[in-house]
Amino acid sequence: EIQTKEDVLEAVVENDVKFIRTQFTDTMGIIKSWAIPSEDLDEAFDEGVMFDGSSIEGFTRIEESDMMLMPDPSTFRILPWRPTEGAVARIIGDVKLPNGKPFEGDPRYILKKALREADDMGYSMNVGPELEFFLFKLDGQGNPTTELTDKGGYFDFAPLDMAQDVRREIDYALEHMGFKIEASHHEVAPSQHEIDFRFSDALTTADNVITFRYVVKSIANHHGYYATFMPKPLYGVNGSGMHANQSLMSQEGENVFFDPNTPNQLSDIARYYTGGLLEHIREFAAITNPTVNSYKRLVPGYEAPIYITWSDSNRSSLIRIPSTRGKGTRVELRCPDPACNPYLAFATMLSAGLDGIKNKTDPGEAVTHNIFNLSGKDREDMGINSLPGSLKEAIDEMAGSEFVKKTVGDHLFNNYLCAKNKEWDDYKARVHQWELDTYLSVL
Ligand code: GLN
Ligand code: MG
Ligand code: MG
Ligand code: MG
Repeated sequence: EIQTKEDVLEAVVENDVKFIRTQFTDTMGIIKSWAIPSEDLDEAFDEGVMFDGSSIEGFTRIEESDMMLMPDPSTFRILPWRPTEGAVARIIGDVKLPNGKPFEGDPRYILKKALREADDMGYSMNVGPELEFFLFKLDGQGNPTTELTDKGGYFDFAPLDMAQDVRREIDYALEHMGFKIEASHHEVAPSQHEIDFRFSDALTTADNVITFRYVVKSIANHHGYYATFMPKPLYGVNGSGMHANQSLMSQEGENVFFDPNTPNQLSDIARYYTGGLLEHIREFAAITNPTVNSYKRLVPGYEAPIYITWSDSNRSSLIRIPSTRGKGTRVELRCPDPACNPYLAFATMLSAGLDGIKNKTDPGEAVTHNIFNLSGKDREDMGINSLPGSLKEAIDEMAGSEFVKKTVGDHLFNNYLCAKNKEWDDYKARVHQWELDTYLSVL
């Protein structure tokens, strides 16, 4: 396994790597990347690679446009779809200021900061995500469409289906890059798929999510398809989520969510962590569900959560505690979607959970019946709140949140809200197809 600079330099020679794509993500979780020749890598490890931060979404600071990327050797991966002669690899880095200090708007730094806080309390965080996506056709010009690539449904087995072949290619490529695939299946909607890879510490998983999206899109494209992580590309069928299974480990490597001596074998720590997530989710929904489109997924009828409840097994809850106990004891947060910036999403989840632990936040009773069947009045009587109904509602919640501000830092907080408000204003001002369909012929 590759961990140090020396390991990387050795792998570069061994695999005849000619170019390295250095990568980081902007505020929105979009990969920024440029290639350096492998001869320059040694120096890049020691001195970093300079770039102009003023052209990166959310990074601008007039006085600090010179920035530096410090490659993290443990993220070195050879891209399996490039030629093996003169191979291409990628490496993820940390963004620094020219004086060597971390750039506080770097999403990877923000997650590291949250992890350090957990470490101070004696915990490390594991995350296992479940990313769903659609495979659509490209048009003649190579642009994405929403044309279906299959008519399959959940767990359908279709041996002659091209889309299944593409998914298998994606699995192979991911395995080549060190992912351990735990499940790969067709999802409920036509042309929708899910691939789950093994959980890791939160930082590795966030890096993996970025890599995953990149690999899925690249392989789909090589087969003439388009993969999208847009949360709700089609009206009337399920959208795509990114359930986040999370747990905390002690320094001794024990899962601290597990307690064999309570009736449901969940520890108080797990309960308080859940309480913290429930308490703060409205404030950080703009991060886990970052787009206008995200909120079109969070509607009744499509297995996506709306109400802020937890349960042992009920899939209509925002938080589900799968029945596994022991090492695999975990809390599954079901609202995040795969368009989110995973570094920021994991940082805010973790901080919310830690806040719950510090304040011994009671998550209340588990809600075991289907919440969607309750009337609004019943829900109100039970004190059940809902997730924000739109990006606008989510941004306004976030804007008033000291908790999110503290977790992501002032710089990112302000930039994020500014960008999202712009996005909302642009959306709001436009005339949508629905309005034309509904009003044009009758008014
Ligand atoms: N696609 C659903 C969502 O939006 C999840 C479906 C499932 O995995 N059971 O979250
Ligand atoms: Mg799943
Ligand atoms: Mg699923
Ligand atoms: Mg799940």
